[in-house]
Formats: sequence, structure tokens, C-alpha cells
Amino acid sequence: MTELSEALFARARKVMPGGVSSPVRAFGAVGGTPRFVARASGARIEDVNGRSYVDLVGGWGPAILGHAHPAVVAAIQQAASDSPSFGAPSVPELELAEEIVTRVPILDRVRFTSSGTEAVLTAARLARAATDRSLIVKFAGCYHGHADAFLVAAGSGALTLGIPDSAGVLGVVAANTVVLPYGRLDLVAELFGTRGAAIAAVVTEAVPANMGVIIPPDGFNRALATLCRTHGAVFVLDEVLTGFRVGPAGRWGLEGRDWAPDLITYGKVIGGGLPLAALVGRAELMDLLAPAGPVYQAGTLSGNPAASAAGLMTLRLLDDDAYATLDANAAAVASMTSDALSAAGVPHRVNAAGNLFSVFFTDAPVCDLESARSQDTTAFARFFHAMLDGGVWLPPSAFEAWFVSTALTDEGLSRIDVALRRAAPAAAQGAVT
Ligand SMILES: *Cc1c(COP(=O)(O)O)cnc(C)c1O
Repeated sequence: MTELSEALFARARKVMPGGVSSPVRAFGAVGGTPRFVARASGARIEDVNGRSYVDLVGGWGPAILGHAHPAVVAAIQQAASDSPSFGAPSVPELELAEEIVTRVPILDRVRFTSSGTEAVLTAARLARAATDRSLIVKFAGCYHGHADAFLVAAGSGALTLGIPDSAGVLGVVAANTVVLPYGRLDLVAELFGTRGAAIAAVVTEAVPANMGVIIPPDGFNRALATLCRTHGAVFVLDEVLTGFRVGPAGRWGLEGRDWAPDLITYGKVIGGGLPLAALVGRAELMDLLAPAGPVYQAGTLSGNPAASAAGLMTLRLLDDDAYATLDANAAAVASMTSDALSAAGVPHRVNAAGNLFSVFFTDAPVCDLESARSQDTTAFARFFHAMLDGGVWLPPSAFEAWFVSTALTDEGLSRIDVALRRAAPAAAQGAVT
């Protein structure tokens, strides 16, 4: 039953471009009408028709403890009743900054923003100011938010200048970004060899998860940090998605703690469901930011007390037990999905990096954007709709990670299992096997 969502979506399209505030929500990749959500609690999300689903999106990351965790809600309520925004320094942002540098002690300073986009674009500005160089190096398929410098696709050759990946991005801006295939350390080294004196920063997702999940080659992030150091460039590790989800110190903490990116970006989890992100880095770099230094950056709502309180409570509840639960829940969902797809003869591949995973509808290895694109997105669309009909809320695109929370119960897992029994054969329909 979707009539109410259809009516609301028709209304929304009249006053909002495409009917949504962020593109993936519109179901463009899978077809059909997005469900309007009324409420969510734990691992359960409920649409406006009162139908409930087991949620494997988690608000795209923030609902790591499940939706509306009572302690997080109480923290928000307290902060809201003290006024949700002062536009002045407050204790919650200070305590959240201290919590972050306690978890990641290689870094000294935190600048809060309201979105991951702002955190990464500030990293780029800071890197350019610190190095007096222009080029940003990124990897194809890695998402860093929607700042112009990152909405760039690879040019004709691997080492050539980038081209705009969105209307409205100037060629001259895109030409200051170089896009390399993910994982190709040899090409990064070659680029430093030819254009090293112009490279301000190398930016990568700590684990690429916005083209589906790609497992970083062993030592890749660390090797990028070393190359940057050697050539005087800034290494930016984007942990907006992985930060404090994959482990207590993010992906950085899972790769040995004896290496240091220059800057790390966080978002999603650190706001506990409210708009909050952060740029974190070494003091020498971060103190170039205004008002300490000459690089301008600001935000009316930055570090606002309600979002900071929600994020702080979320991080305080993310202890070793919580990470063990997340890991177990992710492993359970990944293996039951893979078993069901195998039983139905659906070619697929699960990529998992700790508790971060996604399912690709192909049997070829997926290690970069090109191989990710080889999957059968129409099989995914059939699977997605059958899962939705069966009461499971998946990301509405084959190129997204699946997000578990600590709130997923055995009952939720068995609902997923039941839904898979119909959805896996639906995915197989029409497939050439
Ligand atoms: C979500 C995301 C961003 C952008 O964050 P927003 O808060 O949506 O602007 C940046 N980088 C990565 C790796 C992300 O997953």
C-alpha cells in the first residue's frame, strides 16, 4: 500500500526539485515511489501508511545505535530546551572535540561544520593555503560531498586533468582536480613524479563506500600518507562515513595506530542524527584556520549544542560491546544475503571491510569504479523492490553500503531472512545464468 506516499511525492515534486532534499532518496536508480517516513525506532522504520520495515540504511550512517535511542533523544531534548543554537561557544562542542581527539590522539584540533561537504571543502582550502599549490588528487568513485572541486570525473587519460561531473562546475575548477582509478598507488607515485610540485592534497575515502564498498589494498592509506609527506602535500583521510562506525578510532584505528594522516574528516555518526561534521588535524595545519590563521571558514550553526550533545552521547555509548554487536550484525546480514542469492543462482559478490559491507550483483571481483559499474543494476532493482515488499528497507541503489545498527534484533534478522527467500528468486528472474 503506497497511495499516501504517492500523493505526498506528487505534492513534494511541486515544491521541491525531484520531490526530495537529496537525490538518492527519489528512487531514481530502482524506480517506483519513495516511501515517506513517519517515524523510526531501533532498527525499525515506519512509513506514513503505518507499515514497518527492518532498516538497513540507518539514515545513511548516523543511526548506528538504532533510531531514537532513548539516551540520544534525552540529550537532544535537554539541549533543545536550553535553546538549540546560541551562535556562541558552548560546552557540548568542547566535550565532543575532546572525545574525538581522545579517540584519535594523533590529531590535535577540531573544526566543526554542519555537513561532510563543508568539512572536506575546508580541507581542500586549507591544503592549498598550507602548500601554496593548486591540485587536488582524488579517486574515481570516491564521494567527498558536493563541493565543486570534488564533482569531477577523470579526463581522457589516467594522469590528465579532471572534467566537470556536474553541470555548473567550471572546467577551470575541475582542471585543478586529478582523478585516478582507486587503489592505483603506482599512478599516484607517477603523478607525484611528473606534477608533484603542484599537488596540494591527496584525498581518499578511508574505505570507499559510495560506489558500494571497496576494500582498500593492504597499506594503501598509509602509503598515500607517506607519499604525501615525501612530496610536501597534505594527506586527507575522509572518514565521514567510516568514522567511529568501523571501530572506536575509525578506519585509522584499524590500520595500526602508528601512522598519521594530516587531516581527517568526520560526519554522519558524530552528529547522532543531527547536522554535524568535523575537520580534524595537526595543530600546525589547523591553526591556519580563522580566527587563529588566514584561511577563512565559518558557520552559523557550526558546533551547535543540540547536534554536539547528540553526537557526544552517541560516541559515549559506542563502547567495545557496541562495536562487537555491529560487527556480528553486519556479518549475519551479509552471510544470510549471500546464502539466499547463491541458492537462487544470482551472481553476486559481498565486499566487506569490517562491519562495512555491500552486495554487488556480479560475480567478477569489484575493486574500483569500473568494476563496480559492471554489476547488473536491474537485478538489484528487482531485489530491492522485493525486499521492500517483504518489509526490509535497503539503500535504493546498487552503489551504496548497507548500514547495520546495534539495535538489530534476532526478530529483525529473521524478518530479513524471510524477505530474502522471495527477493533472491526475484533478483534471478530474467537473469541469464
Ligand atoms: C556522506 C559523505 C560525505 C558528505 O557528507 P554530507 O554530510 O552529506 O555533506 C563526504 N564524504 C564521505 C566519505 C561521505 O560518505
